[in-house]
Formats: sequence, C-alpha cells, structure tokens
Amino acid sequence: MERLESDGHRAYFVGGCVRDVLLERTIGDIDIATSAKPEQVLALFEKVIPVGIKHGTVIVRYDNESYEVTTFRVEGSYTDSRHPDAVSFIDEIDLDLARRDFTINALAMDRTGNIIDLFGGKKDLQRQKIRTVGNGYDRFAEDALRIVRALRFSSQLGFSIESDTMKAIRACRSQIDKVATERITNEMTKFFAGSSVKNGLVNLKETGIYKFLPIFSQHPTLLDMLPEHMEPLGSFDEVIAMFHFLKPDISISNWVKAWKCSNQIKHRAEKLVNSLKYYQHHGVDRWFVYQIDFDVHEKLMKLIRLLFQNKPLDASCFQQLYERLTIHSRKDLDIDGNDLTALFPERKKGRWIHQLLEKLEKEVVSGKIRNDKSSLKEWAKCNQQETN
Ligand code: ATP
Ligand code: MG
Repeated sequence: MERLESDGHRAYFVGGCVRDVLLERTIGDIDIATSAKPEQVLALFEKVIPVGIKHGTVIVRYDNESYEVTTFRVEGSYTDSRHPDAVSFIDEIDLDLARRDFTINALAMDRTGNIIDLFGGKKDLQRQKIRTVGNGYDRFAEDALRIVRALRFSSQLGFSIESDTMKAIRACRSQIDKVATERITNEMTKFFAGSSVKNGLVNLKETGIYKFLPIFSQHPTLLDMLPEHMEPLGSFDEVIAMFHFLKPDISISNWVKAWKCSNQIKHRAEKLVNSLKYYQHHGVDRWFVYQIDFDVHEKLMKLIRLLFQNKPLDASCFQQLYERLTIHSRKDLDIDGNDLTALFPERKKGRWIHQLLEKLEKEVVSGKIRNDKSSLKEWAKCNQQETN
C-alpha cells in the first residue's frame, strides 16, 4: 500500500478482511482496493498474477503472501458464473463501496487503520446485523447470489438478518434460480462450515430459501432430518455424505450433478458414506481403523457423532489403535500377486488375484492370520476355491 501510495495512488483494505479485523476473527484473504489501474499495479510489483485484468484484479505476491488488488470499480449485471458482465474503473472509493453487498462488507481501512464507513457497517457489526447496502430489493434483483450470501454470513458470524433485508429476501428469493449453480455451491459450502451453522439453518428454513436450492427444492423435508445439534461441516463432501446417509434414495451422483461438484468431492463423499455404513454394522474394529485415512478421521468422527449420537473415538484413541495394527496398507502384506500366481501356476491371471489379496488383507488386519509368507500361502491354498 505504501508503494501504491508513493506512486500517487490511493489504496485501502476492503471487504471481509476489514470486517474480520474489527470482529477480531481470523482473516481469510486480503483484498485491497486501489485507484491504480491494473497495468499500473502490474508495473509496480515484481511478483504479480494477472487473474482478472478485465475486471481490474491483480494478485500481488509479497513476502510469501497473496494480496488481491482490485481497481476501484462499478459493475454491471452478473449473468455468468462469477464475474459481472462489464465493469468500469473509477477514481474514488465511494461508489466501489456502494456496489458491495452488505454494510459489514462495505468497510474500508487505510494503511494507518482509519476506517471508512459510509453505510453504518461498524454499527451493524456491533448490533450483529446483516443489512444490504441500499435498497435490498434492488440489490438482490441485481445479483440474487447476495440472498445466499446473507445466509452464509448468518452462519459464519451468528448475526441476524435486519428486517428490511429479510423482507427483500422473501420477496426476491425465487430469483436464486437465475444464479449459476457453482456460485451457490461456493457460498453454501461456507454456509455449512459456519461456526454458527445452527443460526444459519434457522434462517435457511425461515426464509424458505431452501426451496430454491438444488435437491432441497424437490425434497423440502430434508432439512428437518438434520440432527438438532448440528455442527459445522468443513467441506461439501461431508454435507453430501450426511444428507445421503439421512436419505439414501438421493444418490451421491445426484447430489454431485445437481450441485455441480468436482469428482474429488464425489469420491470423498463416497468414501465417507462407505465408512459410515461399515460403522453402522460393525462399530469400531480393526478393519474400520485400517480403512480410514488418518486425515478423514476427524470428519468421520463428527459425522458419527451427529448421525448416531455417540462419540466413538477421540484422535488419540484412534492413533493408538492405528499404531497397533499389524499392517497399515496392502503394501505391508508379506505376499503379493506374483507370489499368488506362482502358488497357483495352473490358474490364468485375473480378478481372483485381487480378490484373494483382499481377503488375506482382511484376515491379517483382523488378526486371524499372521503376516508371514508361509501362513499367508497356507491360508491361500485352503481358501482359493472361493475366489474365481
Ligand atoms: P471471506 O472471508 O469468506 O472471503 P468476504 O467478505 O471476503 O468473506 P468474498 O466473497 O471474498 O467475501 O468477497 C469479498 C468482498 O467483495 C465482500 O466482502 C463484498 O464486499 C464484495 N462482494 C463479494 N461478492 C459480492 C456480491 N455478489 N455482490 C456485492 N458485493 C460482493
Ligand atoms: Mg474474501
């Protein structure tokens, strides 16, 4: 900011980072608004990534941190997934702040910590209110995603929605249909991860917005199935796993398609659901501990807590059980596919090898056979007929 200013420009921290500093919350990304045009920003810094020059945004890398530096602008409508159709650069920050969604997001802070608060954002932070900048009906008609964002902030911050803003939400909610799904998914991911998600859910129900969200529009009673003591779900795969488990006739594929999620989310959700099903039938045993990756342990324990109302294993218990396992992956097995083909020279290579290895793996993990080649071969000899 010093560099921008010494080159004759103005620069301010804007948006979420100012809000979060004032709330003493951990800040996410740092956005800077400046009077400098994108080319001027590019010229002033060594490490720059021109992510959205047309929209005025340049990422500046400085001291291993990223700063999103955006030229003061006003914008047209949003018909695509993320960006407004047209933007115009302007010289002053006031109209740039006026285009922002909520008063608490329309604060700016200069380098010395002075706050620019044109719309009563500080007061709304104190009163814990989400209120649109200007007339809610107009602001939601411009971009209906803001309706979903209001909910997202109510879930993240635990704030209530101011009454005029609430009326405008109720009146404009059907326009959510026009918004690109990816934008909704992005906000709703943050919604379910919010530390006040219970507050968010109350608003989601009361406003009736769920009726305009993918899947929920067709299954309006889904939300009522959530446990009373909901906890934040850190990623959308957990959200899908939870709802699929509560209502198995909506498949994971349906969720993924309707919410336009990535394959990665799909695979993670499938893994979580498989583990939950296993837990439902067998509880925590060695195979359960063996199968779940250490990094999903916490997600899974939370889902178990929510879905089965019990607290199966804390992290240190899990770690102990994990450490006590005789093997930790298929690679640790003292036998492999080559050993098996050598053991059964008369059999053609095929699926049976994989199946037999899987059985051996289960037997070893559950402690029924020792992990040494001769025991494994002996067991394979006795049991190979069952595989084909
Ligand atoms: P987070 O901490 O989750 O990043 P944020 O408030 O920074 O929260 P972003 O989505 O990163 O939210 O947006 C940055 C800022 O841009 C917002 O604070 C707001 O001022 C403005 N903004 C973002 N989306 C919109 C929108 N759809 N309409 C109006 N202003 C928006
Ligand atoms: Mg942000």
